[in-house]
Amino acid sequence: MAQIIDGKAVSAAVKNEVAEEAARLRDEKGLKVGLAVVIVGNNPASRVYVNNKKKACEAVGFQSFEYALDESTTQEQLLDLVNVLNRDDRVNGILVQLPLPKHIDEKAVINAISPDKDVDAFHPINVGKIMIGEYSFLPCTPAGVMRLIESTGTDITGKQCVVIGRSNIVGKPQAMLLLQKNGTVTICHSKTKNLKEVCLGADILVVAIGRANFVTGDMIKEGAVVIDVGMNRLDNGKLCGDVEFESAEKKASFITPVPGGVGPMTIAMLMKNTLTAAKQQAGIE
Ligand code: NAP
Repeated sequence: MAQIIDGKAVSAAVKNEVAEEAARLRDEKGLKVGLAVVIVGNNPASRVYVNNKKKACEAVGFQSFEYALDESTTQEQLLDLVNVLNRDDRVNGILVQLPLPKHIDEKAVINAISPDKDVDAFHPINVGKIMIGEYSFLPCTPAGVMRLIESTGTDITGKQCVVIGRSNIVGKPQAMLLLQKNGTVTICHSKTKNLKEVCLGADILVVAIGRANFVTGDMIKEGAVVIDVGMNRLDNGKLCGDVEFESAEKKASFITPVPGGVGPMTIAMLMKNTLTAAKQQAGIE
C-alpha cells in the first residue's frame, strides 16, 4: 500500500521558508514584496484561485494587489494595465489568471508581462531559460511536483520517468525538470501508442491529462512514485484526479491524493517565485 504524499504539509513547509526569508529581508534590507493578480470576468474557478493566491500572500507577508476586471475588458485595456504593472515598483510579480475571455489573445498578454515579473514562468524568455537550465523562475506546478518527489526521498537519477500530458504549462516543463535531475524521460500524449505498456515501465509517473480516473492500478509498476496533477470536477461536485486512487495506491510506493496533493504546491511555488523576483529586482542574491 502506497504512502500518501501530503501536499498540504509540503506546501506549508515551502510557505514557511518563504515567509521566514521575506521577514528577514524586510528587517535587514527593508525589502517589501508585492504580487499583482489580474482576473478578467467571472469564472468561478478562477475566482477561487485568485482568492487563494491573495490569502497565500497575506500568510507569507507579501502585499497583494488585485485587479478584478469586467468580462467586457478589451485586450488593449488589459495590455495597458500589464504595462502599468511592469513599471510599478511595488509590484515584483504579475500574474494574469487564465483562462482569459475568448476575445483576448492569451499569448499577447503573456508576452507583454516583463520576464522579470513573470512569476508564472510562461513568457517565452523564461520558457527558453528552462530549456537551457538557466532559469530564475520555475513554472509553479511542475516545480511543485519536483518538490513532492523530493519529499519522498526518491533519487530521480537514472529513473524511468513518464509524463502523461504535453501542455506548455505542465507536461513539457515537467519533462524538462525531470531531465535536469537526470531522469530518463518519456512524454506521452493523446496520440501515444501502447500507453499502458509505457506507464508500466515508469518508476516515476506524472499524470497531467485532465480526465477523471484515467490511469488505473493495472497501468502502474509495483513501487512506482505516482504524482497526479489532474483536477477534475465530477457531476456530484467532488474534485478528483486523473489517477484512480483506490487501485493505484495498491501498486505505488508513494502517491499524491486529489485534493491535497499537487494543488496546494502550485500556490506555494508562486510565493517562492515572487520572493525570487523581488530579490532579483532589488539586486539581492
Ligand atoms: P491540457 O492543456 O488540456 O493538456 C492535456 C494533455 O493531456 C495534452 O497533452 C493531451 O494530449 C493529453 N491527453 C489528453 N487525453 C489523453 C489520452 N487519452 N491519453 C494520453 N494523453 C492525453 O491540460 P493541462 O493544462 O496540462 O492540465 C492537465 C490537468 O492538470 C488538468 O486536470 C488541470 O486541471 C490540471 N492542473 C492542475 C494544476 C494544479 O495546480 N494542481 C495546475 C495546472 C493544471 P494532446 O497534446 O495530444 O492533446
